[in-house]
Amino acid sequence: MSDTLRKLETMCRSYAEDLDEIARGEVKKCADCDTRYTKRVSKNGAAAWKPDCGCAKRKGIKTEYTVADYVENDVYDVNYTIARDGGLIGVSLMVAGGGPNIYVDTNVKSVKGFWGGEEFEYPLSGRAVYVLEEEAEYMVAPLLAGGGWIR
Ligand SMILES: [Zn+2]
Repeated sequence: MSDTLRKLETMCRSYAEDLDEIARGEVKKCADCDTRYTKRVSKNGAAAWKPDCGCAKRKGIKTEYTVADYVENDVYDVNYTIARDGGLIGVSLMVAGGGPNIYVDTNVKSVKGFWGGEEFEYPLSGRAVYVLEEEAEYMVAPLLAGGGWIR
């Protein structure tokens, strides 16, 4: 396995695991400054939210970092796949570009990475696909209702 392919594999797996954590509600954000936190459990079992944004009130006002936050902050481009009847088939999110190009794609229920001549695909969890498509239906509804859709 080439170095590039190994790096691509690590990245695709990390995007898939990240989305599964978000889908499980295990990612939080500071309600003051919106800094994203992830729960990290150390070897001795102590849990901490990282990184620390430094807001004085943050411990009491942590809120969930949802898939809507993810789409707003961590995604470069969104492409919907819509059926002839207007129903959502799937959504593809571009999460990295330039060097490696990486897409979270519910159409194929996986994270797909392309880098140089290499490509790698890592499966998305069922719950990650579910929350992504739920959010995509919500996002695409106003576009379809606006009459921009060719019938
Ligand atoms: Zn903060």
